[in-house]
Amino acid sequence: MKVNGFVCKDPMAVNADDFFKAANLDKPMDTTKSKVGSNVTLINVMQLPGLNTLGISLARIDYAPLGQNPPHTHPRATEILTVLEGTLYVGFVTSNPDNKLFAKVLNKGDVFVFPQGLIHFQFNPIYDKPAVALAALSSQNPGAITIANAVFGSKPPISDDVLAKAFQVQKGTIDWLQAQFWENNHN
Ligand code: MN
Repeated sequence: MKVNGFVCKDPMAVNADDFFKAANLDKPMDTTKSKVGSNVTLINVMQLPGLNTLGISLARIDYAPLGQNPPHTHPRATEILTVLEGTLYVGFVTSNPDNKLFAKVLNKGDVFVFPQGLIHFQFNPIYDKPAVALAALSSQNPGAITIANAVFGSKPPISDDVLAKAFQVQKGTIDWLQAQFWENNHN
């Protein structure tokens, strides 16, 4: 039987390893291959089957000096984040019509929360030091929509007439943006 799209094992076949993963979350991840200078390691129900039905997941996020986790949303989860190393400028923006930015500089040990569905980001403003954060998300499968990737990197592309009007720029600007390589910083 499937729950939230993920199969439930026969209870008699479940063992401790279904609730365990040697995820190496204590190890720094490579941020050098990412254009945005970050690397997200997410432990969701696909990595850890025992999370099924439990409404929770975990992520380690590594930031290069001046790296960022670019504006994104989680359609199915609120996120609570703590800084393990370094400094992060973080924020989220509320929904229409206010679109109010709530932003803060976090130091090691500080905690911040990003409410479900809202666009949020983290940026390491320090030019010579990496940063590391640990985040918990209130879904076994939070989902992530990186705004720039979804808007400018969709396959097939959204019509440049639509995006030129929406962003109030010339079509050539949209064409340039759509021609960029929109990589995913989730590994
Ligand atoms: Mn997030």
